[in-house]
Amino acid sequence: MSESNELYQELILDHNKRPRNFRRLAAEECSCHADGRNPLCGDTLALDVKLDHDRIVDIAFEGSGCAISTASASIMTESVKGKTTQQVKVLFDIFHGMVTEQRMPDEMESLGKLAAFSAVGEYPARVKCATLAWHTLMVAISGQSSELVTTE
Ligand code: ZN
Repeated sequence: MSESNELYQELILDHNKRPRNFRRLAAEECSCHADGRNPLCGDTLALDVKLDHDRIVDIAFEGSGCAISTASASIMTESVKGKTTQQVKVLFDIFHGMVTEQRMPDEMESLGKLAAFSAVGEYPARVKCATLAWHTLMVAISGQSSELVTTE
């Protein structure tokens, strides 16, 4: 295993053990919400987002699932806070291409910690675990907040 893979694995384990932004937003703080479920693995999550116009100023999640899904949600919340919904959609496209098609971005450093999931594409069963939080976020910020997001 390469050094960067080891580093990535440590990052995922750390975020699984101590997920960041693992809480709910108060109702008056919450601009949009969506629930996600990955029946294939049993991962579930509830996502709260606070928007200021089109910028994500706060984001929080709760749920239970495997290490990949929890770490992905945790790192996602860190990565998107402060970004506009348009910037988040661009980031999602890059992340999605990386895990589903192993399409590596020209500038890996633009992904920051999200690069930790670059090897997930080698494990097809784990791809849905890694993308669940993102699909849920896309639904939440598109305003279809009443829908349950499922990866199936
Ligand atoms: Zn999973």
